[in-house]
Amino acid sequence: MQTPTTQSLLAAWELGRAEPHLIERGLLLLLAAYPSTPRPTLAQLSIGERDSLLLGLREQAFGSGLTALAECLQCGARLEFQLRVADLCVPRESPALETLTLRVGDYELEFRLPNSFDLSAVRETKDLDDKKQRLLERLVSRARHCGLEIGTRELPEEVIAVMEDRMEKADPQAVLQLSVHCECCGHEWKTGFDIASFLWTEVDSWAIRILREVHSLARAYSWSEADILAMSPWRRQCYLEMLGA
Ligand SMILES: [Zn+2]
Repeated sequence: MQTPTTQSLLAAWELGRAEPHLIERGLLLLLAAYPSTPRPTLAQLSIGERDSLLLGLREQAFGSGLTALAECLQCGARLEFQLRVADLCVPRESPALETLTLRVGDYELEFRLPNSFDLSAVRETKDLDDKKQRLLERLVSRARHCGLEIGTRELPEEVIAVMEDRMEKADPQAVLQLSVHCECCGHEWKTGFDIASFLWTEVDSWAIRILREVHSLARAYSWSEADILAMSPWRRQCYLEMLGA
């Protein structure tokens, strides 16, 4: 992994702005940090592996501290809490296996973990049952009942539930949950944390700020955008302070 340059992160942001889907945006950000890795290789990472890399990218680009926001489910208070990237990293018990196997009663399954290709393929499917079924068809490579091959539509809900549980355990970073405590009413609950969404929002604000800086400096000094972006953030800041911006 390499720390993305201002230019490469801005380029990823520009492409991502035209691409409203978060899965694609996550991949574009990763490509800025892994420019020599082919896109399909990154897209084939499990969602937990992808999120581990996005957390690493977040730390490299913006530091280890982050502020998360939540709204209390009981009293509606707006909560702000400080976290470190390390708090969000879930250790994996074993390396991600390419194929997972499972036996539940008379059912036997072979399947794999979902990746960005899978999520992208089902993103337009609005009906949740349909989406789940399409995802199962992609992930399950073999399903048998009493030794006979069956289709994923023939799998009972309880077998699918065990499979989902197995996937969560095999890729815990993909289902990161944070414990939240409300200081106003004492309510405690768990909430999901999506690093792709969080990082995209941060990059979006950062990029707008950088463009404002370019605008101010280009207007004052007639420097080109490329020259301004090639400066270190600190040097840009010095000039901006001189301008009183
Ligand atoms: Zn509360």
